[in-house]
Amino acid sequence: MADAPGDIEALIALMARLPGLGPRSARRAVLHLLRKRSGVMEPLALALAKVSASARDCRICGNISDHDTCPICASAKRETGVLCVVEDVSDLWAMERAGGFTGRYHVLGGTLSALESIGPEALRIPHLVARVGQEGVREVILALNATVEGQTTAHYIAEALAPTGVQLSALAQGVPMGGELDYLDDGTISAALAARRRL
Ligand code: ZN
Repeated sequence: MADAPGDIEALIALMARLPGLGPRSARRAVLHLLRKRSGVMEPLALALAKVSASARDCRICGNISDHDTCPICASAKRETGVLCVVEDVSDLWAMERAGGFTGRYHVLGGTLSALESIGPEALRIPHLVARVGQEGVREVILALNATVEGQTTAHYIAEALAPTGVQLSALAQGVPMGGELDYLDDGTISAALAARRRL
């Protein structure tokens, strides 16, 4: 494709950097966009520009939305007494997709890693401890992935929260080992939440 126009090649190269898209599928996607210019490409370009300008991390929970306080934290319908701790925004979105959780979240943004020097501050664990005290939280559900890193982080959080006396629970077994919430079906997540065990 040496003679393809430069801008189009540049777009293909960018698309190929998206998760799940390799060079071949990126090329196919760009060709589709070019054929559906007014129906798909232009609205997509506008939406990308808009979200790129407005998206921000929620100052309370770390979710991504277009407000300083995300719709979940801002909602009067969400319980303040129950906090669900997740690794990533994708896990929060998976929990919301599954439905059935009426509390609020705390997004860590990763897991503890000595190798990558990710410490408790980077994961906003001190902020989590402060929230438990300030928001009158009675239960913290640790919905971390069933990976070694996820479980190490859960253990650390449990120790950090122990002095607060808050009730700790974890998603029930049924989340497969090495499993990530985002890849589970909604029914599995709901069942794991309903059958959560006290720590
Ligand atoms: Zn929030």
